[in-house]
Amino acid sequence: MISERIQKIEPSKTVELTARTARMRREGIPVTGLNVGEPDFDTPPHICRAAKEAIDSGFTRYTPVMGIPELREAIAGKLARENKVRYATDEITIGPGAKQCIYAALLALCDPGDEVIIPYPCWVSYTEMVRMAGGVPVPVRTAEDFSLDPEAVRAAVTERTKAVLINTPNNPTGAVYSKESLEALARLAGESDFYIISDEVYECMVYDGRKHVSVSSLSEDARRRTVLVNSFSKTYAMTGWRLGYLAADREVTAAVNVVQSQMVSAVNSIAQKAGAAALAGSQDCVADMVREYDRRRTYLSGRLNRIPGVSCRQGEGAFYLLPDVTAFLGRTYHGKKMEDDLDLAEYLLERARVAVVPGSAFLAPGHLRITYAASLETLKDAADAIEAALGELEPSV
Ligand code: PMP
Ligand code: GLU
Repeated sequence: MISERIQKIEPSKTVELTARTARMRREGIPVTGLNVGEPDFDTPPHICRAAKEAIDSGFTRYTPVMGIPELREAIAGKLARENKVRYATDEITIGPGAKQCIYAALLALCDPGDEVIIPYPCWVSYTEMVRMAGGVPVPVRTAEDFSLDPEAVRAAVTERTKAVLINTPNNPTGAVYSKESLEALARLAGESDFYIISDEVYECMVYDGRKHVSVSSLSEDARRRTVLVNSFSKTYAMTGWRLGYLAADREVTAAVNVVQSQMVSAVNSIAQKAGAAALAGSQDCVADMVREYDRRRTYLSGRLNRIPGVSCRQGEGAFYLLPDVTAFLGRTYHGKKMEDDLDLAEYLLERARVAVVPGSAFLAPGHLRITYAASLETLKDAADAIEAALGELEPSV
């Protein structure tokens, strides 16, 4: 019998949908995947070269649990330089992706019944990871424009609040939290004594002159309370390498290392060498990719907003759009009624052959999450197909 704990956990919708589109393609059905949030670029060659050198030089054994010193030093340098916050190398731990780092942090922090406030719409995995760690997810709405609403967070704080889990730039909304809202959150964390888990995996993808702010850089108290999580997946197009990290106060990092020592031993040694090369090398590759995402964002949001009934914010960061499609709910295709965003996403997959994720998976019913991490040509074809399919829906009588 499967444990009650796991029986209550939803599988990841984003991961599930990726498997489904792969299956469709294997069966010869052409489908455009705008579902999975993953750079369409290849990992830059100098990073791959470092990995090949690691293999050739026999760098193929277990590393220390927290990761190789070379990589942790490079991360400490990067955090000081770019994020304006200082961490010693023993306050940094490498994990197999930001996803696992967040889960390890939750395991290290949550006692059964502890509450974790999650501003929503939010990434699919947060609520389930909190539940797996024995905690209680407490979703709290963001403002109308998806910005962080510190007053709404304040209203949700109880004596069981252990942490607030934020993600800026945000998946799925594209919101970039302002310095003022993060300052208010940090003050609240101090007053009410909770941690902030800050997922910053999209930090380099900010547009329109917006700046990413790391909440831990705002004060010494904020730094002490924050678990900063980041990853190589998005910044360097390294999703398959499985390489992420967290930085936190020594006490928290030590607890996370206990989890990691029993759970992962250490991250793939080759990927760690690749990560060190990514941080040591020129960052032009990142700037090039971000410039391209920005063009795609403008293009796709423009196309979607021209479809009657679709309303879509451009977002200021990450590589997602979250169009509001409530106008299409209740409409029909050959008698089949679109009851909700799940029906609509299914319809687009079947009719337009475009995979998008239902907003409900991100606690955003009535929306669809669409990634623009795809070529402009792909986005154009997908937008044409979505427009045509939505145009075929008929008002129900
Ligand atoms: N956080 C957010 C908000 C994400 O969208 C993702 C998806 N990649 C992750 C964390 C996990 O990233 P990683 O590949 O580093 O596990
Ligand atoms: N984070 C990406 C997404 O939201 C990748 C898949 C996942 O891990 O959820 O699509």
